[in-house]
Amino acid sequence: MAKKHILVVPGDGIGQEVTAVGKKVLDKIAEKFGHEFTYDEALIGHVAIEATGEALPEESLNKMRASDAVLFGAVGHPKYDNDPSAKVRPEQGLLKMRKELGLYANLRPIKLFDELLGASSIKPEVLKGADILFFRELTGDIYFGEKGRENNGDTAFDIARYSRFEVERIARKAFEAARTRRKKLCSVDKANVIETSRLWREVIQKIAPEYPDVEVEHQFVDATAMLLIKDPRRFDVVVTANLFGDILTDEASQIAGSMGMLASASIGDGTGVYEPIHGSAHDITGKGVANPLASVLSAALLLDISFGMKEESEAVINAVDQVLKAGFRTGDIADAGTPKDQVLGTEAMGEKVLSYL
Ligand code: NAD
Repeated sequence: MAKKHILVVPGDGIGQEVTAVGKKVLDKIAEKFGHEFTYDEALIGHVAIEATGEALPEESLNKMRASDAVLFGAVGHPKYDNDPSAKVRPEQGLLKMRKELGLYANLRPIKLFDELLGASSIKPEVLKGADILFFRELTGDIYFGEKGRENNGDTAFDIARYSRFEVERIARKAFEAARTRRKKLCSVDKANVIETSRLWREVIQKIAPEYPDVEVEHQFVDATAMLLIKDPRRFDVVVTANLFGDILTDEASQIAGSMGMLASASIGDGTGVYEPIHGSAHDITGKGVANPLASVLSAALLLDISFGMKEESEAVINAVDQVLKAGFRTGDIADAGTPKDQVLGTEAMGEKVLSYL
């Protein structure tokens, strides 16, 4: 029996609808496994701006710091998408949250449920059984280094910078995760030409002997981009720098077929944040049709990573698998062959997952 305090931060648009389902799943797990989960809510994004004038009010941040994990939805509102000059913007809340909580590793599991094999544009026989966990470094690299213009604006530069400790801390998280999975770690870099990549590889090689049970390989990023499509099953845990990770995780998201199915975690040394990879989807907000499974799978990730509850996490993933096997779909993952009465709305899909749990 464990006692945990979870902060629910639904944010904007369908974030509200899908996070409500994710929370119900956590509740069910607590009941089923005899844990005591307490909850609080906090504002972020457009809803926070409307209420307080800030995208991430100090009160929300304090609640995040004081909780054991954050279940997050999404931020965004069409109002800002069409007004690039708006000074206070929903996504500032997201960036501030990541910075203030020191979330240096972004984890994205790419797991394809057998029932959705047809939803991907990659051949089913190549995909079947693919199960990859990405660790993308989130606070360094070319995004955060010095940038500017020279030569009357005709020349531009961005400096990529990594320090040993930044590589080491994410590498350790990735090695530890590999230990709990198939014990394979692929470190992705471009060490044949880029100096930060040479440091990256040096650090991985130096700490690898501390994890003798994990098999390590080094791949260049260009080869990895090719191998992800050619043979996704060869990967278990992948660790890489910010820029390479940004690109490779979007590529890999297509392995799983639908945005409504993919969860992610951002972790550091304090509170971890768990969220769907999709945004606030205002085109479907309020219609009750959003796929809540990415939030449900975010809850599964939260249980595994922040609480070390592997069995509980697997129970959630199995329930999702069972629901899909039974033929139930939300609109985004339904196809021409799905009977009408098996196409469910957000709440009904949530209820199905709960019933299988
Ligand atoms: P989006 O992910 O919100 O939506 C893209 C498309 O996928 C839409 O057609 C949407 O209806 C569909 N979709 C997304 N999630 C779905 C779900 N769970 N079920 C069914 N269909 C789903 O991306 P966008 O339209 O580019 O952006 C909308 C807003 O979200 C913008 O304001 C953007 O800034 C914001 N955004 C936020 C995050 C975040 O909070 N992490 C991420 C991406 C975009």
